[in-house]
Amino acid sequence: MNHEKTAQLADFSRIRLVIHGGAGDLAPGAGPQPEHRAALDRIAASAKALLMTGATALDAVEHAVMLLEECPLFNAGIGGVLNRDGLPELDAAIQRGSDRACGAVAGVMRSQSPVRLARAVMERSPHVFFSGPGAEQLGRELGLPEVAPSYFITAERLVQLEDARRKGVITLDHDTDDSRVQKVDRSDAAFGTVGAVARDAFGGLAAATSTGGLTNKHPGRIGDTPIVGMGTFADDRSAAISCTGTGESFIKACFGHEVHARMNYSGWDLAKAAQHALDEVMHYGGRGGCIAIDHEGHITTPFNSYVMYRAWVAADGVVRVGIEPVDGP
Ligand code: ASP
Repeated sequence: MNHEKTAQLADFSRIRLVIHGGAGDLAPGAGPQPEHRAALDRIAASAKALLMTGATALDAVEHAVMLLEECPLFNAGIGGVLNRDGLPELDAAIQRGSDRACGAVAGVMRSQSPVRLARAVMERSPHVFFSGPGAEQLGRELGLPEVAPSYFITAERLVQLEDARRKGVITLDHDTDDSRVQKVDRSDAAFGTVGAVARDAFGGLAAATSTGGLTNKHPGRIGDTPIVGMGTFADDRSAAISCTGTGESFIKACFGHEVHARMNYSGWDLAKAAQHALDEVMHYGGRGGCIAIDHEGHITTPFNSYVMYRAWVAADGVVRVGIEPVDGP
C-alpha cells in the first residue's frame, strides 16, 4: 500500500482490537488471575500502539499473536500443550479482510513463531496451507528463525500431559459431550489458544489465531484454528473472527464462514450472527467462544464456557481486560 496515500486516509477513531488467550472452565476459587490479566493488558496495549502508528490490521494481529505465543501462560508457541508423544504440534492461521489473502500452518514444532510462518505462507508462497515438515522446510527456505521442539515445552505442560496420560484422557481445554473427545473434569480444564482481531485506521480487518491444540492429542490431529473460514476468518464486508474451544465442533459449525454468511446473506448483525454460530457449536457438542469485530467497528465476544481470557479496545480507545462473562464488552 502506498504510504503517503494511507497517511491521508487514516482515521484513528476507526481503530478496534480484541485479543484472546483461550476459553475454558476455570476451577472454582482460581482467583483473579493477575498474571494473565497483566499479560493480556500489556499485549493489547502493544498492538494498539502499533495500530496508532498507522500499521495495518494484519500487522497488528500478527504482532499480538506473536507476543501471545511468547507468553507461557497461554496454549500457543512457548507453553503450547503437548501431544501423546510429548511433543508440541502447533497450528496457526492469519487472514486479511480486504482480499481474503490467507496463510496457515499445522503440526509445526520447529518454527519459532507459527503465526509468522503462517503470514509467510500467505505473502511469500503461492499456496495457503502447509503442514508438518513441509511447513518447516518452507520456513527454513524463507529464512525464518528455527528452534528445537524443546523450546516450546514448559514444566507445567509436562505435568499436564502426565496427568492426562494417567487418566487416559485427551484433555480438552473445555468440557465437551463430543463422544470422540473424552470429557474432562471441569476443575481440570485448562485454557488454550490465542488469537487477535483488529480494524485499522483505514477500516481494514484482519484475524489471526495460534494454538497447541489439545493435551495428549493423537499426533497429526488438527483442530479449527488453522482452518481458514472455521477458527480464523476475516472479510472486510462482514467481520474478523478468531475462535477458541472444541475444534472438532467449531469445524462442524463452519464457524467463521457461518458468521460471514449470516451477516452477508441474512442481514444479521455481528452479535446475532456470532451467537448463532456458537449455538451451532453447542449443538455439535462443543464449548468455547470467539472474538469478533465487524466492518463498522462493533465488537462481540460470546462464549459458552465459564470464562474467556480477553482484552479489547473499543471506540473509546481504552484497553480493557476481561475473564468472566460480566466483564464485557
Ligand atoms: N480450538 C483449539 C483446537 O481445537 C483448542 C482451543 O481453543 O483450546 O485445537
